[in-house]
Amino acid sequence: MRIQDLAKELGKKPAELQKFLIDMGVKAKTPSQHLDVEVVEQVRDLFKEETKKNDLDLLPDTGILTRSHLRVSELADLLKRGLPDVMKAFLKRGNMVTLNTEIDANTAVEIAKDVGVILELEASISTKKTIRDHLDKIEEYDMDRGLDALTTRPPVITILGHVDHGKTLLLDTIRKSNVISGESGGITQHIGAYQVSVKGRKLTFLDTPGHAAFTALRARGAQVTDIAILVVAADEGIKPQTVEALSHAKAANVPIMVAINKVDKPDADIERVKQQLAEHDLLAEEWGGKTVMVPVSAKTKLGIDDLLDMIMLIADMLDLKANATGQAKGVVIESRLSRKKGPIATVLIKAGCLKVGDFFVIDSTYGKIRALLNDSGEKINEALPGTPVEILGISKVPQPGSILEVKYTESEAKDLAEIHLQDMNHLAKAGKSISLESLSKKIDEGEIQKLNLIIKADVNGSLEAILASLSHVSSQEVSVSILHSATGPINENDLMLAMASSALVIGFHVGITQEAEEVAEDDGIECRLYDVIYNIVDDVKKVIEGLVRPVFEEVETAQIEVRQLFRFSKVGVIAGCYVLSGKVVRNAQVRIFRGKTELFQGKISSLKRVKDDVREVAANFECGVVIDGFIDFQPGDILSTFEIRQKK
Ligand code: GDP
Repeated sequence: MRIQDLAKELGKKPAELQKFLIDMGVKAKTPSQHLDVEVVEQVRDLFKEETKKNDLDLLPDTGILTRSHLRVSELADLLKRGLPDVMKAFLKRGNMVTLNTEIDANTAVEIAKDVGVILELEASISTKKTIRDHLDKIEEYDMDRGLDALTTRPPVITILGHVDHGKTLLLDTIRKSNVISGESGGITQHIGAYQVSVKGRKLTFLDTPGHAAFTALRARGAQVTDIAILVVAADEGIKPQTVEALSHAKAANVPIMVAINKVDKPDADIERVKQQLAEHDLLAEEWGGKTVMVPVSAKTKLGIDDLLDMIMLIADMLDLKANATGQAKGVVIESRLSRKKGPIATVLIKAGCLKVGDFFVIDSTYGKIRALLNDSGEKINEALPGTPVEILGISKVPQPGSILEVKYTESEAKDLAEIHLQDMNHLAKAGKSISLESLSKKIDEGEIQKLNLIIKADVNGSLEAILASLSHVSSQEVSVSILHSATGPINENDLMLAMASSALVIGFHVGITQEAEEVAEDDGIECRLYDVIYNIVDDVKKVIEGLVRPVFEEVETAQIEVRQLFRFSKVGVIAGCYVLSGKVVRNAQVRIFRGKTELFQGKISSLKRVKDDVREVAANFECGVVIDGFIDFQPGDILSTFEIRQKK
């Protein structure tokens, strides 16, 4: 069909349709040009929609966006405006899009404004955190349903502390003396968490002792622990990892109690431990403070009952409640691949009731619960809040910290999994998530009011000096909070903590361990290394004033020498060159120098090896170069190609 005929059919002028086609990305040179059948159909559909929706009175002028990304066609649907209108709005802003182009929520809001719709972002999207916010939403959801719908749930407890101070034995002793399914399942624990029953009440212990696992869960946005128990051996007193664990527990903002372990040992000194903890702002109740400290022996079981009583007391004060009906939500606390059963995950239920047969989503995977197993490996039909349960029926091994959500139908679960996948891709592409610059921007935009710092230094003296200098730095709007400070290199745990609490990691005269460097790279966390204290203070000041902006620099990528000239009527002049250093790539930006004088700046529009067009040419090879807009080469000219990079 010809353009002019289609225009007539649609009641448009041929020129008008021609312009519209060009906007759509279709080549439309003359009104007599024939169009493909699909294009004709597409245009008819678009205009049908436009006429249908042209009655402005019927159109909504507000809408809510619940996703962080969507396609142009989906936006048009959401706004109830015709696709042509929406696409035109993009074009007016100079954005070339197709129906399938994916756009982010902020762009959607702008475009909506252009077509007369006020689009509001659902809270989780506007804060750009997407999946991570799910858990907060669970709690809000519970609260929304009113207190009547809530029932008391077991507290979830994590044990932290220095290596060899008795975390594993303590967990073991508690489990053995109070295991729930003692008769049937015996005491063989199957999963990374267990429940014990004390005086008719259930307590859930996470069996992944150590703050690394604790913070790793938090780093993925999952706060599962209600109470942290810090284990300190009475004979050794506090050690570097005790301090680290304490910082991690404090940053998580959970109640901390202390188990002073190994009191059976002859050199145990309970008072010394209390004294040392007081130096780290943890003051025992009997010393006028608020922290419950219980002397125990994981070996002789001395004090274990007291410890459990105290846990229950704290749980009572926390008044932990959850909605135990409805669709379940939970957090993956452990996962593995079983050769017999396939991928398996242990999930701690946060809200609702998880049942066999439920459709669920975990990150970008979805499925149907095939079986539920409790902590003794027994099959159960349902699991309630505060309960750890092993689930079967997943197609991929999920990461600890991922959120499980139950949906009514398989297709609902599938849709949500797809949205999660998009969100994850976008998060991955978003670049450094924690850096001087990103934090400064957030402060500037009023998104955060507190700057969290983790400080590692070579010696105590420097650490104290840095802390003292930073103690005066804060502004009216923004305070500075030191989450953790210690001597030694920046390690993996520091990065986990940084990720979990959006903290900036600062090193003074220290390095970064290799594992930490990998985490920093993978998760986009900037570690700042300094050797002058003044610079730390200066940078922190700039961050809290919201003044750090990206700095770009020009980086030379190659030097090329012109050796010979070839003139062609079609292409103009090809400079026969030799790559002195670096690597030349096609389309690279280039400066041309004759001696010290810069003659021209432009772009390499064509790059050849012998006669073939190539993408790149390495050092010590010859190549032919054409530069847009420049032909006056002379042998001996030096071409310097460069890239603009963000300065680190
Ligand atoms: P973790 O590294 O913190 O998990 O420490 P473990 O639970 O593995 O304990 C380290 C060592 O201390 C083991 O040899 C335990 O048997 C021992 N231990 C743990 N608790 C006690 C205790 O209360 N008294 C004594 N005497 N030894 C203990």
